[in-house]
Amino acid sequence: MNETRSCVDCGILNCHTRDKKYPEFCLTTKLTEETIEKVKRLYEDEENKKVSVISAKIENEFYLRYTRVEELIEFAKRMEYKKIGIATCVGLIEESRMLARILRKNGFEVYGAVCKIGSFDKSGVGLTEEDMAKTSPVMCNPIMQAEVLNSAGTDFNVVMGLCVGHDSLFYKYSKALVTTLVAKDRVLAHNPVGALYQARAYYSKLTEE
Ligand code: SF4
Repeated sequence: MNETRSCVDCGILNCHTRDKKYPEFCLTTKLTEETIEKVKRLYEDEENKKVSVISAKIENEFYLRYTRVEELIEFAKRMEYKKIGIATCVGLIEESRMLARILRKNGFEVYGAVCKIGSFDKSGVGLTEEDMAKTSPVMCNPIMQAEVLNSAGTDFNVVMGLCVGHDSLFYKYSKALVTTLVAKDRVLAHNPVGALYQARAYYSKLTEE
């Protein structure tokens, strides 16, 4: 296989440690001055700068102490967000209700939109009976979720278990910045990285043999 090597093929990570030599294919060393300047300028944007500073401070202050829910609350407070949108999968509605309770207790206004909002038919986008044999005929509607949260004027949106692809459309159409609290994985208790740990164990076993 003749693939171009990139960061995922690098065992050195010198951009992070700064104590070794960069590999010959290193992406850091291949950046042009123009690209570096373009990206640096983007961090001068008020919102981008604020998000970068606040998220880095939270990471540093609460490293290994705060859960992701706590980080989310801390981030939203320091960003001075008032109204938080929740874009939830219908299957995660109980977890979203709990999140809404916690956010409200912390002084935020909460507005949630469930994935089936609008109750559109899957057939409307050309899906067939076969495509919905194991699932509902009602289409997940991430564009409508974004539309509704945009109209409600949410300052920040939280994704709760939207499917792969549906989440992409939500990110695409949300006007407010988005964070993901739950990445849905129905097989692994919403812990998708479990599959990667399992694969790592499998591949290390193969190399041992
Ligand atoms: S930027 Fe360079 S050193 Fe950093 S991970 Fe990528 S290839 Fe490795």
